[in-house]
Amino acid sequence: MTRAHNFNAGPAALPTEVLEKAQKELTNFNNTGMSVMELSHRSADYEEVHNNAAALMKELMNIPDDYEVLFLQGGASLQFSMLPMNFLPEKAPGNYVLTGSWSEKALKEAEAMGPTKVGGSAKETNYTYIPAFDSLDMDNDDAYVHITSNNTIFGTQWQDFDYDWKAPLFADMSSDILSRPIPVERFSVIYAGAQKNLGPSGVTTVIIKKSLIENEKSGVPTVLKYSTHSKANSLYHTPPTFAIYMLNNVLEWIKANGGAEGMEKRNKQKSDTIYAAIDESSGFYTGHAEKDSRSRMNVTFTLPSEDLTKAFLTEAKENGFIGLNGHRSVGGCRASIYNAVTQESCDALASFMKKFHESNR
Ligand SMILES: *Cc1c(COP(=O)(O)O)cnc(C)c1O
Repeated sequence: MTRAHNFNAGPAALPTEVLEKAQKELTNFNNTGMSVMELSHRSADYEEVHNNAAALMKELMNIPDDYEVLFLQGGASLQFSMLPMNFLPEKAPGNYVLTGSWSEKALKEAEAMGPTKVGGSAKETNYTYIPAFDSLDMDNDDAYVHITSNNTIFGTQWQDFDYDWKAPLFADMSSDILSRPIPVERFSVIYAGAQKNLGPSGVTTVIIKKSLIENEKSGVPTVLKYSTHSKANSLYHTPPTFAIYMLNNVLEWIKANGGAEGMEKRNKQKSDTIYAAIDESSGFYTGHAEKDSRSRMNVTFTLPSEDLTKAFLTEAKENGFIGLNGHRSVGGCRASIYNAVTQESCDALASFMKKFHESNR
């Protein structure tokens, strides 16, 4: 059985080596005579996995000591609510930069909890670009700034964060965490559902500045407070143990493959391969994103007509390319090429795109 060319947007491809390791250890982890899933979350064997995953996050992302790494549940979507629930005061607004559907969803949750403003938006073009820094409306009095580092659906990505954000910066990095080096010290909160770049669904990683936790609002339910999880080393209640075990294995794999720098190198080469197939097609394929805002994780494109797009997707599927349908809100095609997607899969897709173009000119 060969592995599929998996371009799913999330849950997404996992490294084959990681799956094989999990398979080998499935019924007898570390000579315990049981699966990781069957261990107590208070056992030494599990705690080692749990603590190792947090330590690897810190090491691979170069996270300073004044930050906590938390493993929570509820997905990135719960963070949309949990952040304003804890950090949005009655008077100062949460400042949201809209670069896609996920930013809109984050804003909607904050609106239910306090004052908000939109400090930048690319909505008018259906999110084809990332707003320029000098167009943003930032203020020292904002409670915080919220951005989405990579726009999974539209295929745009912040190229850097080198800007004076004026207020604590919160970032949803669900679809590009650990795909490249990031200056963590510029952020107060980074969060990501694991199912794109870090592992299976079920665990959400939150990197949060310790001093911010001290400013939590009162009256928030226990499980929805960051301090609860920070005090308990993310073991206040039963964590998603198997998902964290898989996360740990993925982090070991990232480390063995050159860390964040290694991932960036792979991802540059992979995305260049597919963007070249678009750019060298004389307009047969059109990218959704403007060139200087292109994502190295989600490559979005269309063909000259609805019918050709449909034929492309059908033929691609017949040839073993999975998950290329664009999100229903954009249409067209999308190749999600997270860390675990191989250069071979990208090469195969690029040559399929060329062949399809040649037979449909
Ligand atoms: C997938 C995704 C989400 C949603 O994550 P869940 O874990 O399903 O809640 C949020 N933001 C971005 C940028 C995403 O790509």
